Amino acid sequence: ETITVQELANRMAARVPEVVKSLMKLGVMATATQTIDADTAELVVGEFGHKSKRVSEADIEIGLEGVQDRPEDLTPRPPVVTIMGHVDHGKTSLLDALRATNVAGGEAGGITQHIGAYQVTLESGAKMTFIDTPGHEAFTAMRARGASVTDIVVLVVAADDGVMPQTIEAIRHAKAANAPIIVAINKIDRPDANPTRVRTELLQYDIAVEEMGGETQDVEVSALKREGLDRLQEAILLQAELLDLKANTNRSAEGAVIEARLDRGRGPVATVLVQNGTLRQGDMVVAGTEQGRVRAMLDDQGKPVIAAGPSVPVEILGLSGVPSAGEAFVVVEDEGRAREIAEFRQRRQRDSSAAAGAAARGTLDQMLARIQAGEQKEVAVLIKADVQGSAEAIQATVQKLGNDEVRVRVLLAGVGQITESDIQLARASSAVVIAFNVRANAQARQLATREAVDIRYYSIIYQVADDIETLVKGKLAPVH
Ligand code: GDP
Repeated sequence: ETITVQELANRMAARVPEVVKSLMKLGVMATATQTIDADTAELVVGEFGHKSKRVSEADIEIGLEGVQDRPEDLTPRPPVVTIMGHVDHGKTSLLDALRATNVAGGEAGGITQHIGAYQVTLESGAKMTFIDTPGHEAFTAMRARGASVTDIVVLVVAADDGVMPQTIEAIRHAKAANAPIIVAINKIDRPDANPTRVRTELLQYDIAVEEMGGETQDVEVSALKREGLDRLQEAILLQAELLDLKANTNRSAEGAVIEARLDRGRGPVATVLVQNGTLRQGDMVVAGTEQGRVRAMLDDQGKPVIAAGPSVPVEILGLSGVPSAGEAFVVVEDEGRAREIAEFRQRRQRDSSAAAGAAARGTLDQMLARIQAGEQKEVAVLIKADVQGSAEAIQATVQKLGNDEVRVRVLLAGVGQITESDIQLARASSAVVIAFNVRANAQARQLATREAVDIRYYSIIYQVADDIETLVKGKLAPVH
C-alpha cells in the first residue's frame, strides 16, 4: 500500500512542498515522485486536518475516497435529478420541456446534444442537472455498479392515468437508493385530469404529499403546455437545499460514467458526471477498466470546454475504450498510474468472467431441448447494443426473467457491432446473441452460421424481454 507524495498532495488539494515539509517533521525524506506507505500517508493526512479512510484492494483502489474533504473546502453544488415514472406518463416530454428553460448558452433553435445528461441554468442563476435517460432500468443498472449519481427523483404521474405498475417500481427504486422524491403530476391540461386521485393513490405506497399531511412535495405540471415547470424547479431547489449538497471544486475530479459509446470518427466517447473536484482537459483519467488523457471535453450544447466542476456533465474524448455506464472515473497523476489501475481492474474482470464462462456447449435447439427436459438450468445471453445505456437496460431486464428452475446469465453487455470474438464467446457458453440496433459483421455472420450460434436482432427492449422469457420457459419456436 503506497502512494506518491504528488498524488497525496493532489488528493488533499495541498501543495507538494507543504506535504514534503510535513513528511520531514515525521522524519521521512521524500520528493514529489517518491512513494510513501499508507501508514505514513495517514499521518500526513491527519496533519492537514483531513480524515482518511482506508480502502480495500490496497492503494490500487484508493480512489478519491481515500481522502475526505474538510468542511471549509466545500461549497454548494447543483442537484442531480433523475426523472422516473410509468411509460407514456411524460418523462421524455418533461425532460424536453425542462431543457428548454435553460437561459445559459444555446441560442434559441440551437443544436442540443444528447449526451445522457444536461444542465439547466435558471434566470436566478441557480443550476440543476438532469440525467437524460428516463426510466428506472438505467437508474438500476447504474446503482448496480455502485454509482449513486441521483440526488433527487422526480416521479412523473399522469393525472389522467394515476399510479401504474412502473410508478410503483420507480418508487421502490427511489426508496432503495434513499433518494427523496418530488411528485410531478403531469398532463394537468387534460380534461380528464384528476390530480387528487393521484395524491390519494400515492398514499398506498407511503408517499404522502403535503396536501395529504405528508412532507413529499408535489407539483402539477403540463409538459405539453410547459406549465408548472418553474414551480417544479423551485421544488427541486428547495429539496436540494434541505439535502445540503456540497463539493470541493479545488481538487482533482471524481465522478461516474453516465453513458459511453464508440464513435466512428472520434473513438470512445464517454459522458461523465463530475461529482467532486474539477475535471480539466489534459487530465489523466481512469474510468472502469479504461484509461486515457482527456483530449477534448464537450458540454451538453456540444461546445468545447476546458474545465467542468461538480454536477456538470461533459462528454470526454481520449479514453482507451468504452467504459460501462455507472462506472466510477477518477483523475490520477500520470499515465503509469492510470495504466496500473486499469490493468488491475481488467485482470480482475477477466478472472471473474473466466470463472463464469465454463458452461456446456450446444445449439439453441439443444438448449431448448435441455430446458424442456429440465436438464439445463440457465439461459446464457450476450448483449451488444448501439449505446451503453441500452445494453445496461437490457441486461437489467433479462436478468430479472430467471425463475426457480432456469437462471438467466449475461456473459457480456457491450457496445458496438457483433464481431467474431462475440460469436466465439457465445459459442463457448451456448449463449444467444442479442443484437440491439447493431449488426453483425460479415465474418461474425459466417462464423455464427457455421457454429449454429443464434443471433437475434431487436430494436425494442420489451421484445427482447418477451423472447428471453419464452426461452426461459422452454417454449421458444424453432429459429430459422
Ligand atoms: P414517457 O414514455 O414517459 O417518456 O412519455 P412521453 O414523454 O413520450 O409522453 C407520452 C405521451 O404523452 C406523448 O404523446 C406526449 O405528447 C403526451 N404528453 C406528455 N406530457 C403531456 C402533457 O403534459 N399533457 C398532455 N396532454 N399530453 C402529454
